[in-house]
Amino acid sequence: MTEVDENERPKHLSTRVLMTRLVRECVRPYVGWICLAVVCMAVMAGATALSAWLMKPVVNDVFIDKNREILWLVGGAVLATFAMKGIANYAQAVLMSFVGMRIIADNQNRLYAHLAHMDIAFFNERPTGKLISRFTVDINQMRAAVSNALTGFGKDLLSIVGLVTVMFVQDWQLALIAFFVFPLAVIPIVRLGRRMRAVTADTQEEMGQFTTLLQQTFQGIRVVKAYAMEGYEKGRIAGIVERLFQLSFRSARIRALASPIMETLGGLAVAIVVVYGGSRVIDDATDPGAFFSFITALLLAYEPMKRLANLNATLQEGLAGAQRLFDLLDVAPAIREAPDARPLGAGPGAVRLDDVRFAYVTGRPALNGVTLEVPAGKTVALVGPSGAGKSTILNLIPRFYDVGSGSVTIDGMDVAGLTFASLHAATALVSQEITLFDDTVSANIAYGRAGASHEEITDAARHAAAHDFILDLPEGYATVVGEQGVKLSGGQRQRLAIARAMLKNAPVLLLDEATSALDTESERQVQAALGKLMEGRTTLVIAHRLSTVVGADLIHVIDAGRVIESGTHAELMARNAAYARLYRLQFAEEAPALDAAQAAPA
Ligand code: ATP
Repeated sequence: MTEVDENERPKHLSTRVLMTRLVRECVRPYVGWICLAVVCMAVMAGATALSAWLMKPVVNDVFIDKNREILWLVGGAVLATFAMKGIANYAQAVLMSFVGMRIIADNQNRLYAHLAHMDIAFFNERPTGKLISRFTVDINQMRAAVSNALTGFGKDLLSIVGLVTVMFVQDWQLALIAFFVFPLAVIPIVRLGRRMRAVTADTQEEMGQFTTLLQQTFQGIRVVKAYAMEGYEKGRIAGIVERLFQLSFRSARIRALASPIMETLGGLAVAIVVVYGGSRVIDDATDPGAFFSFITALLLAYEPMKRLANLNATLQEGLAGAQRLFDLLDVAPAIREAPDARPLGAGPGAVRLDDVRFAYVTGRPALNGVTLEVPAGKTVALVGPSGAGKSTILNLIPRFYDVGSGSVTIDGMDVAGLTFASLHAATALVSQEITLFDDTVSANIAYGRAGASHEEITDAARHAAAHDFILDLPEGYATVVGEQGVKLSGGQRQRLAIARAMLKNAPVLLLDEATSALDTESERQVQAALGKLMEGRTTLVIAHRLSTVVGADLIHVIDAGRVIESGTHAELMARNAAYARLYRLQFAEEAPALDAAQAAPA
């Protein structure tokens, strides 16, 4: 767990480091578009400054000198300036939206592509909800940081530069006095930014837990109801919602704090300018036009200044998101295709484990030197107590995990040296937990065999004893089965999973028999389907049924991560040791039924 906590609570990287990475990895492809946007922003800033500057001729020539000729000229100039400002603003907004949205799309694709290649252990340690919130909340906040930073520095900063220039041109002494107070605002604003980032990190953490909990309770809604846990779950959700509320409220308060600081300082600057500037006009030290132009520039500069002050907060929020995204992107998959990986030939599919040791958690071995063979085309059954390591053995063959030591080979080739494509094409896993997607029956059967024809799909379904029930569904093969196949019965789900493996037609079959008892008819159909699936394939099966162990070519008894006995059912019964004991515990009650079933055809 400590490892996860480190991942989820990343070290606090400096703004500069994060910004550099953000620019290098996310922004660089769009430099051209951004330059174009900055040009538009510069035009806009120029137009803003010009509109303030125009106040001088308006006051001096129109109001004081009452010059009618210049009236139209000034009016036209004001209109042209505002039109130019509007057009430039539109263009920069469109360009920046384009860049921001492309950044979201690119990073969503990049993150998914990265996660799709992560190993099973990675997903075991991270709740789905948290991973999902990286795609939604974090990437969006990162985009906001990028576009606000660019717009802020481009549009607002350039506008301020233009307006300040106007102020200095009109009355440099007044400008110096007005700007003496503004730098005072910088210190508290930077402090607020830091607090903002800390609050955001906590909010994100809660958000991830919120998504995870929602997902788990909706997925497990039947258990929630069956155990009357609605009240408990409501309490848990309410707890998280309350914490989220507190955090967002705190972040809103911090953000809002920037406003009174800027408001007061702005008021102070304007008051000083009015008093001092006014007295200079009265003393004839400057003309009224210059004064009005100055004060217009100061007032126009006020909004962009306020935005710039808030920018740090948004930026810090976005950087928290960026950091969480980068932290995920930086985790390298533990299981990778070897650089010199070779494809598995079209061999018969003989599987061998040689002195395999493996631990999920260091110091707690799950397999302690397992050596076993599954000859090509034969069926080998694994039996043993719960937690003995049977599923672990199955997981190592398609490299869901890598062995600690020893080797797993298919047709003499170490699975660690095979290309993923050929390894996964050679193995089919049918586990107890059947995964069906909320898609049509056809799409679920053809999962992993894109482009399979309808004939191939129906053929697979027929062999899996599923064709008839599929035709009885409301829309046959086009029926959507619901999340995890909720609209089907347990036996139907199993037969769809078998049909999927049938269509995949892999030479090596890894089978974890379902323990959940189906009714006799359903059970018989699933058994028949499995029998068909196993025909001619190398099958390693975790056996839960007597018929499977009796029919297996070889049985391995697994206990505490070791093979403790091997042989056929008859041989092992004759030894009267571990298997015989297990048989009496696990399978004996099925024996009369099996005997009757075997006797019936004769
Ligand atoms: P069952 O018949 O109950 O399914 P099994 O023989 O298949 O049991 P495995 O699932 O292989 O047993 O588990 C072997 C050991 O590894 C157990 O002690 C189990 O607690 C542990 N284990 C299994 N999966 C993980 C995991 N993802 N992380 C940590 N430990 C695990």
